[in-house]
Amino acid sequence: MTTSQDAPTVGHLIGHELTDTGAYAEVRDPGRLDDVVARVAVGTPEDVDAAVRLAHQAFGSWRRVPADERAQLLLKAADILIGSAGELAPLLVREHGGMLWEAQTDFGLGTGVLQHTAGLVGGFFEPVRYDDETSFISVERVPRGVVAAIVPWNMPVVLTMMKLAPALVTGNTLVLKPSPFAPAALTLALHRIARILPEGVLNVVHGNADVGEALVSHPLVRKVGFTGGTETARHVMRSAAGTIKNLTLELGGNDPAVVLDDADTEATLDRMLKGVFTRSGQICFAVKRIYVPRSRYEAFADAFCARVEGYAVGHGLDEDASFGPLNNKAQFDKVNDLVESTRTSGAKVLRLGRKLASAENGYYIQPHVVREAAHDSLISCCEQFGPVVPLIAYDDEDQVVAWANDSDHGLGSSVWTSDIERGLALARRIEAGSTFVNTHSFDSLDLRMPFGGVKQSGTGREFGEAGMKEYVEEHSIRALK
Ligand code: NAD
Repeated sequence: MTTSQDAPTVGHLIGHELTDTGAYAEVRDPGRLDDVVARVAVGTPEDVDAAVRLAHQAFGSWRRVPADERAQLLLKAADILIGSAGELAPLLVREHGGMLWEAQTDFGLGTGVLQHTAGLVGGFFEPVRYDDETSFISVERVPRGVVAAIVPWNMPVVLTMMKLAPALVTGNTLVLKPSPFAPAALTLALHRIARILPEGVLNVVHGNADVGEALVSHPLVRKVGFTGGTETARHVMRSAAGTIKNLTLELGGNDPAVVLDDADTEATLDRMLKGVFTRSGQICFAVKRIYVPRSRYEAFADAFCARVEGYAVGHGLDEDASFGPLNNKAQFDKVNDLVESTRTSGAKVLRLGRKLASAENGYYIQPHVVREAAHDSLISCCEQFGPVVPLIAYDDEDQVVAWANDSDHGLGSSVWTSDIERGLALARRIEAGSTFVNTHSFDSLDLRMPFGGVKQSGTGREFGEAGMKEYVEEHSIRALK
């Protein structure tokens, strides 16, 4: 057991140093509730103001650093990040409740985003020019200024890098607010990265909704990169409205997986299950509802449940565990309530798998499968963000496309088939930011594919050049001859 003496104390990162005054809150391990993992500063609007003003001051000279030098610094940051994973991934596990491999993947993906983005600056700032008899026109990309980045707890490293990399490489400066449910490992890594950058380019202020609101509404913040829940995003939009600033919003999803009648069941399950239960289902683009042809429903559901029966829930540092606890009490209560109300509605709710000894004192929920779920039931319509998934029978392709699109969300989605052409044709009919054929999990992402949502899953895109464009303005200059 970790004693509270072992827990690091983590301040705000303002400039190159972590602060050591003010109030602190304990971060507890969601998989061993008696363990205090870290003590992390709780910010105030004054801390936000200090960080934003420093970032604003740093912006003046950072924007003039040549882009390829900024890209070189991103590559150095990537080395620091991956070099920190061995030490910090176990701490991240004890904050956010994931498996060790999931935390290591978070560091690895974050490193990949830094490296990939650094490789995109060549030509990005090349102005578009028109020169004719009457005028000279130059359309130039310029950074926006201070960026506020706000991230959740589920994959904090890569979600931060998806904002930090495009923001910094295009010449903006950054103030990040991590989630209070996974702030420590991320901040310790960022402290190391901040020290290779000019002072004030990268800053972190910890805290709750009030700190997020102070950051978003600060008049010197010109851009907000937010990842989190759709309800929170409504507050973020309202806070940003007072000073009219640009927003990229990466929000919740209710991703459909559509199994076609020609899909091989075992091959489908080999890949699909990773997308359902990894991180205990707490991934924005996890598979959240599964549509199966009625003619194959019983056989598919039997095979699905047989696989899920093999899962063991335990602490993230327990090598025998398939996946860990939910991250926090609110999420734990929400998923338990959802399971209970689905059960009392008369649906066939199966609790499968088992709990290991390490799953004694935390927010553990065994995997659940809802068989014979109705398309319009609560479990099919909401973002459960937990290890419970409905299997829904459908009759024909038009019906399943209509059902897949019958959602306020549109983040990820997938089609499963033995005929790629048929899969691609169906994929084009789905309303989502991303649609995958025969894959739907971490390894479905490719940094060349812009990532984001449609409808209430968000606005804007991350990754690659599309992601970088979110962090620049087009400055149009015309001289009359
Ligand atoms: P959340 O919305 O509760 O919190 C996200 C962040 O916003 C946290 O840092 C939180 O402190 C902050 N916040 C809360 N209230 C705020 C306010 N009024 N103003 C400004 N900031 C505020 O989300 P969560 O529970 O941490 O994460 C789970 C949600 O995130 C799920 O809905 C999930 O789908 C979504 N998510 C989306 C993506 C994506 O890329 N689309 C990725 C991961 C998670």
